[in-house]
Amino acid sequence: MKTRPLVILDAGHGIETPGKRSPLWSDGKQLFEYEFNRDVVRRIAIQLGKMGIAYIVLVPEESDISLGERCRRANKIWQDTNKNAYLISVHANAGGGTGWECFTSVGQTKSDVISSVLCQEAEKAFPEWRMRFDNTDSDQDKESQFYILRKTHCPAVLTENFFMDTESDCRYIMSEEGRNAIALAHVAAIKQITTL
Ligand SMILES: [Zn+2]
Repeated sequence: MKTRPLVILDAGHGIETPGKRSPLWSDGKQLFEYEFNRDVVRRIAIQLGKMGIAYIVLVPEESDISLGERCRRANKIWQDTNKNAYLISVHANAGGGTGWECFTSVGQTKSDVISSVLCQEAEKAFPEWRMRFDNTDSDQDKESQFYILRKTHCPAVLTENFFMDTESDCRYIMSEEGRNAIALAHVAAIKQITTL
């Protein structure tokens, strides 16, 4: 029997990463992306642990681990698992807009399978929200985030979980309800992908 793949959970950015934060809202609340990404990864990890699904958290640190180092770690895991691993990098979006989207590395069919399962689960989990499923534009910021997709050898997908600079989106991802829904959508997808 084929060994089940290991899922590598990456929480983008670190505590000192400049810029990656929401505006300061009228009630004094603000979202920091590193905290959101880590909290969602933590929630995913708890559920996977309960289900006995193997995972590894790529960046246990609070600090910003460089993309080069993230990729080095992921590629080592890929080797150590005999190329039986895949990576999901969790982010919040920015730049004005609303909804959920995910990106894959180019030309890796297995990433596309993973992203389509994630998209299906997101569609189920967020029926009230816009699913941004066609992505033709990518700004400079996105390009740099895509490093993790370009330089990892394993199949890799990056999820952009709502817009931290759009107030309604940001309120949702600051809430327990939103964070749990986002984590559970990832867990449902991982469960399927791991048993494919
Ligand atoms: Zn990000």
